[in-house]
Amino acid sequence: MKMRTVSVLGATGSIGDSALDVIARHPDRFRVAALTAHRQWQKLAELCIRHRPEVAALTDPAAARELERALSGKRLPTRVLAGDEGQAEAASLAATDTVVAAIVGAAGLRSTLAAALAGKRILLANKEALVIGGAVFMAAAAKGGATLLPIDSEHNAIFQCLPARYAGDPTASGIRRILLTASGGPFRKRPIAELPSVSVDEACAHPNWVMGRKISVDSATMMNKGLEMIEAHWLFGVPRESIEIVIHPESVIHSLVEYVDGSVLAQLGHPDMRTPIAQALAFPERIDAGVPALELVRRGALTFEAPDHERFPSLDLAHRALGAGGTAPAVLNAANEVAVAAFLDRRIRFTDIAPTCAESLERVAARAATTLEDALAADAEARSVARSWLKLAA
Ligand code: NAD
Ligand code: MG
Repeated sequence: MKMRTVSVLGATGSIGDSALDVIARHPDRFRVAALTAHRQWQKLAELCIRHRPEVAALTDPAAARELERALSGKRLPTRVLAGDEGQAEAASLAATDTVVAAIVGAAGLRSTLAAALAGKRILLANKEALVIGGAVFMAAAAKGGATLLPIDSEHNAIFQCLPARYAGDPTASGIRRILLTASGGPFRKRPIAELPSVSVDEACAHPNWVMGRKISVDSATMMNKGLEMIEAHWLFGVPRESIEIVIHPESVIHSLVEYVDGSVLAQLGHPDMRTPIAQALAFPERIDAGVPALELVRRGALTFEAPDHERFPSLDLAHRALGAGGTAPAVLNAANEVAVAAFLDRRIRFTDIAPTCAESLERVAARAATTLEDALAADAEARSVARSWLKLAA
């Protein structure tokens, strides 16, 4: 296999950690070209010393100056960049062929889009980019000649269960349904009456996965599965009617594809993000991910149940937003980001998150989303509506 050069956007996060762990296991296959983050300059400095990238970028300019000082005299080949432009440059470097898009939230849209336009092989974790600007993003990837390899575990599982060279037409490939599995998060069995008083720490304590705080809260509300339904729609060209959500508390089956002949293909594994990341990094080859073998007998039973729509209103909101189309998913995502951040700051209750999203979908009219500007305008309007509904300062 030829040596691949990799830019990791969001290198200091949970996905960044897992990606750099897999990369470091295969120095003969991968070289790090760029590492980026928001403002954690100390951690990025350590990563630069370990991986010696050509470029390191922090969005926050003051943190970028600190990084520059921390790296001076270390004899590294690393140029330090700042701002959104720095992120976009790291995503489209001529020296890079593979981009791990692992920034959390709408903040990752521009750099992920830059990688698409530059024709990179994109390992997509930043699902929010697809939720906000699905049409724009898919068009940019086609125009730039980019290859999209999903590393969200469910989408990576689906990708592995689709026919080789799947061209985005489920009917032509004999696909009846996509079954997206969900753990149900930490509150699957919590009495609904207690949900208004759950704490941030409880919401972030996922039963099976260790992840960043935003996606952990999204898993607790199940908005994560709603966003993933929209993500699956764009990645695989499946209509929402053909996507079913199944609660599978053990998180061993990562998703399934059902064919018209009755065959159902699934991908299984330990809940460890290094598996989907390694699959996509090496595709179409296979490499060691550092993940232990799945001992089925020791795991015992795998169980399934239907999602509880009263407990998890976010699922219906996402279904509705995808049905409305245009800018509606961008509005949903923006309102959710505002509400989740406010919950993490302990300014609102857990059960205020879904109503904020519902209210924003009501108040912001859905429009066509054919350009990046359409999507960004809807994002900005929804953030302001969500903030005023929650009575948060702008
Ligand atoms: P995290 O909070 O652990 O890390 C987020 C990263 O994004 C950090 O490196 C941070 O510095 C960077 N970042 C945030 N704002 C930025 C900005 N304005 N500019 C540049 N960088 C910025 O999050 P995570 O759990 O690693 O999730 C990252 C993405 O991957 C999310 O979209 C999430 O939905 C998706 N994802 C994560 C997991 C998981 O297991 N953690 C699984 C599937 C999908
Ligand atoms: Mg997922």
